[in-house]
Amino acid sequence: MTLQAKKIDKINADIRQAEADAGRDVCSVQLLAVSKTKPAADIIKAYQAGQRQFGESYLQEALLKQKELSCYQICWHFIGPIQSNKTRQIAAHFNWVHSVDRIKIAKRLNEQRAANLPPLNVCLQVNISNEPSKSGFQLDELADAVEQVSKLTNLKLRGVMAIPQPATDYKQQCKPYHLLYQAIKHLNKPELNTFSFGMSGDLRAAIAEGSTIVRVGTALFGSRSD
Ligand SMILES: *Cc1c(COP(=O)(O)O)cnc(C)c1O
Repeated sequence: MTLQAKKIDKINADIRQAEADAGRDVCSVQLLAVSKTKPAADIIKAYQAGQRQFGESYLQEALLKQKELSCYQICWHFIGPIQSNKTRQIAAHFNWVHSVDRIKIAKRLNEQRAANLPPLNVCLQVNISNEPSKSGFQLDELADAVEQVSKLTNLKLRGVMAIPQPATDYKQQCKPYHLLYQAIKHLNKPELNTFSFGMSGDLRAAIAEGSTIVRVGTALFGSRSD
């Protein structure tokens, strides 16, 4: 077994344990392997260990890797900040976008998603810790944003993504996810069933609070210099 396979097995075991501890169904949480800044060779190793969902944050880098890996059946997720001039290529080359942080970006992705492709799966990024420096919708903007994005027919609104302020205390880690999960449930839209919550450092708390996709980079591929 390769080192990469061992790491994937370990994280999947951690996810299964967290699901069980939270009384969640087995495999109700998916692992998204965040491969930003890592070479295509690392993705291949993870792929060979069974991983199919990969997340990227930097468009140009992602496009180069996608070209190299075009013969692999990979589901690509864009999770990084989105400038307007990047939407065309994101709409063309990804299956999911987790980081839709403004209506303008949703509209552009919708216009630019080719009609022959299935609708682009999107999550709204929510600025759950109210950090002025962070992008995303505020909680009180969420209902209106859901309303507007739901009308865009080349997009499929799946749920929300959050990157809370880092905390080491378990209870502090839970809080923002709890708040956002409740806010979505309150909207009473069962089709919003994707909660892109949790990274290497707060996976257990995120799963306890309803995560359905954890985005793991460091714990899988090692540390980055970004
Ligand atoms: C980089 C990144 C991750 C992965 O973070 P790790 O701490 O390396 O697991 C998750 N989500 C987003 C949005 C990221 O940009």
